[in-house]
Amino acid sequence: MGDNRYDAVIIGAGIIGAALALELSRKGWKTLNVDKLPAAGYGSTSNSCAIIRTHYSTFDGAALAYEGYFYWKDWAGYLGVEDERGFALFQDCGCLIMKTEKNGNLRGMLANMDALRIPYEEWDPARIKQAYPFYDTHQYGPVRLPDDPGFGESDGSELTGGVFFPTAGYISDPQLATHNLQRAAEAAGAAFRFNATVAAIRKDGGRVAGVTLADGDEIDAPVVVNVAGPHSAIVNAMAGADTDMTITTRALRQEVVHVPAPPGGAFPFVASDSDIGVYARPEIGDHILAGSEDPECDEREWVDPDDYNQSFSKQAETQVMRLAQRIPALGIPNSLKGVVDLYDVTDDWIPIYDRSAVPGFYMAIGTSGNQFKNAPVAGALMAELIARCEAGHDHDADPVRFHLEHTGLDIDLGFYSRRREVNQESSFSVLG
Ligand SMILES: Cc1cc2nc3c(=O)[nH]c(=O)nc-3n(C[C@H](O)[C@H](O)[C@H](O)COP(=O)(O)OP(=O)(O)OC[C@H]3O[C@@H](n4cnc5c(N)ncnc54)[C@H](O)[C@@H]3O)c2cc1C
Repeated sequence: MGDNRYDAVIIGAGIIGAALALELSRKGWKTLNVDKLPAAGYGSTSNSCAIIRTHYSTFDGAALAYEGYFYWKDWAGYLGVEDERGFALFQDCGCLIMKTEKNGNLRGMLANMDALRIPYEEWDPARIKQAYPFYDTHQYGPVRLPDDPGFGESDGSELTGGVFFPTAGYISDPQLATHNLQRAAEAAGAAFRFNATVAAIRKDGGRVAGVTLADGDEIDAPVVVNVAGPHSAIVNAMAGADTDMTITTRALRQEVVHVPAPPGGAFPFVASDSDIGVYARPEIGDHILAGSEDPECDEREWVDPDDYNQSFSKQAETQVMRLAQRIPALGIPNSLKGVVDLYDVTDDWIPIYDRSAVPGFYMAIGTSGNQFKNAPVAGALMAELIARCEAGHDHDADPVRFHLEHTGLDIDLGFYSRRREVNQESSFSVLG
């Protein structure tokens, strides 16, 4: 096979594109990931909070996340090769999620956890205080903007409690995790090309024939996969693959702040708190990393992924002020540090892992701020879906079933269809 011919071109080398390269290569496919950035995981993956957790609103969402947990738990074993930069570490610290009216006191979610035999403990406010002595357990919801009357005021009642999940945590370095996947994929025969932008997707007789790069170079492949993160809609349009989709994708701007923890205020584990609209996790150097749970009062900023404000707005300060409701000793630094990046969001905040209307063109997109944790299993299920479709299976008429190796479940990949109805069980937020 010449230099410019592959079995599959994967557009994007983020955590999901790299995972797909590894899984397809292990099936014997000759793959090439093309990324316009200089290294793997430099796109939205690099700024991911990389929280690993299993509490999702839907059964399928939770099943996939629990399966993903086992890959991270034995990351070196899964990769099976060394990386000269070392392995990303899974900080297996657990996660505490508060019960609120907004999340139905987690009743529906816990029913899914029971069905999936995911371990958890229910904690009352006194137990929460034991773990987080610095945490003010009064109720502050519904979430407000700092300028609204009543911001930061509690009616004096306490949270009803929380649920602690031991099978949770975060990945120390999401870019390094992607590099790990790249090295494992290369060991299985995969190729990566960086600083290379896909400018066109070529077809022959209605079927995908390859891609053309911005510098005019042509790469031939009978299969092309869109794993372009926040650029997914642009890449789908390039392929003419957006004609039959009921679910669409858009880029949503997000701010994540890193603040120093006050003395005695460092989080021992991940926290998800919809009463204040913030999720938080430990960050090195006794810092706290705080992201938004997208409360209704916050305006959603849909943007052009090639042209958006990469500096903090009021949102970052709002998140710190919300967190300060819980941690009264939290200082609000004059100059806030953190990251601004994009989610690739679907109409129901559930990803699309699917084929497309164009034969040979596939998509693993719409990861909605919540699929870092699922990347290894997303790579595996996409590789299976692509192999089955290329062998003649009609996935639209008869969705492929995929066996989750660690949890032993068989899931219906029709759940992730581009042509599904909007899933009303979703939280319609980053929680999925
Ligand atoms: C701030 C933030 C916090 C998050 N926190 C969490 C979390 O705690 N837990 C969790 O599970 N998930 C989280 N996520 C979501 C998770 O990080 C993403 O779902 C995941 O990283 C997406 O990976 P990807 O490979 O699909 O996309 P990306 O990493 O965005 O990769 C896509 C790549 O495609 C390339 N590309 C695009 N267009 C082209 C083109 N035309 N030619 C060549 N290359 C192209 C880009 O350069 C990019 O590198 C978070 C996301 C963000 C932004």
